[in-house]
Amino acid sequence: MNSDIRFYRQPVIDMLARNVLNEYDRCLLLSKPKAIPIDDIIESLGLIVEYHYLRNSDRICGETVFDAAEVIVYDMAKRRYKTIIVKGGTIIADAHLLDSGNEGRLRFTFEHELAHWILHKSIFCGSQYSAAMTKTAISEDCKLSSEADRAIERQADMLGTALIMPITQVKKAYYAVGRSQSSKQAAIDAMAEIFNVSREAMRIRLSTHNLI
Ligand SMILES: [Zn+2]
Repeated sequence: MNSDIRFYRQPVIDMLARNVLNEYDRCLLLSKPKAIPIDDIIESLGLIVEYHYLRNSDRICGETVFDAAEVIVYDMAKRRYKTIIVKGGTIIADAHLLDSGNEGRLRFTFEHELAHWILHKSIFCGSQYSAAMTKTAISEDCKLSSEADRAIERQADMLGTALIMPITQVKKAYYAVGRSQSSKQAAIDAMAEIFNVSREAMRIRLSTHNLI
């Protein structure tokens, strides 16, 4: 499988993100910076979003199902695992995310899983690895089995970040709003609110581009 995996450099990732956003709504990258409607973009691409408890804890945030498959989910009422049939082209978000009301983490899951769909569907569709993208590189206890897995996750994170915080819009917002804040933390807070992302995600985005 590894020979089929392509790894893109940052400028290519940024271009892929721009193409997706422009195709959805050209104004997204031209207008005043605002939160990217990631769930609407997912739907516009014909993908299905479902919520299930993926595990009995909130360890796994999302899963992308490339081909119709049986997926293991946790039945919270009966307190046991069960399998369900899921259509190909489905993003499953962990229902714990709804319970906790953590919108930043939910949006992170959406952008990350959408990035898997964009980058990796040609690898996983029609293969025994369908429905294998169960790992979401958000928590420290996320253990990946190989360097290839880690690289796949890094690529999904890179594209996901570029989708939800397009760098041109981030810079525009930073020079309009973020830079004039009283402190670094205030800048991060203001920017995170504009893009409706977690403060940590925004801190990393700004820091990676030497804006803070
Ligand atoms: Zn992932």
